[in-house]
Amino acid sequence: MKNYLIQIVEDDSSVKKLLEITFKEYEFNYVSCESKKSAMMMFLSHNPDLLIVDLGLPDGDGKEFIKQIREISKLPIVVLSARHDEKEIIAALDAGADDYITKPFSVNELLARIRANLRRDISDENIPDKIICGELKMDIASRDIFFKQEQLKLTPIEYELLKYFLLNTNKTLTHKQILKEVWGIGYQNEMQYLRTYVNTLRKKIEQNSTRPNYIKTESGIGYRFCCNN
Ligand code: CA
Repeated sequence: MKNYLIQIVEDDSSVKKLLEITFKEYEFNYVSCESKKSAMMMFLSHNPDLLIVDLGLPDGDGKEFIKQIREISKLPIVVLSARHDEKEIIAALDAGADDYITKPFSVNELLARIRANLRRDISDENIPDKIICGELKMDIASRDIFFKQEQLKLTPIEYELLKYFLLNTNKTLTHKQILKEVWGIGYQNEMQYLRTYVNTLRKKIEQNSTRPNYIKTESGIGYRFCCNN
């Protein structure tokens, strides 16, 4: 496995220490800093594989840093936020973060999120011909979708929704992001459309649609399409 470098941007010394100890133990390389200003300098000089960003930094808002990074890089960005601060989390995801962890977090949760985000192939900007995720297989060119070897019949919107999910696996997507990408600009607030289509899609691809394995609900924020191949 590649030796990944993680950059931590966190001014709370106890959280920073916990992250550093965890990364040391699980053999991730890391660098850390405590302010927005030093974060950009460190990013440019170290070229990390993943960023962990606290939103409340002493010299500014972590979201501003995320926006600046998104202009120059597609690397995975995981945000650290206070629990139940859904507005902040949504704003950070809309600014370009891929995922979030709420404080206090467990080490297992942290590592799972980091691994899932490193697994996403961000280097490939081209849309692949085929996407395979667990028992789902999508052929982009022919628009055929198979679930457990059987061809699935999807409506055009269900297809576009599933395609967007499959191109953004293991990533927290806000309701607004999904509505904008699948339905188009102007539909960002049509939450009921999204809920309806997620429900019908779940009935087609989930073993048990009330306990989904693929389309996970991120309460108050959006959805995450889980894929662990
Ligand atoms: Ca802070």
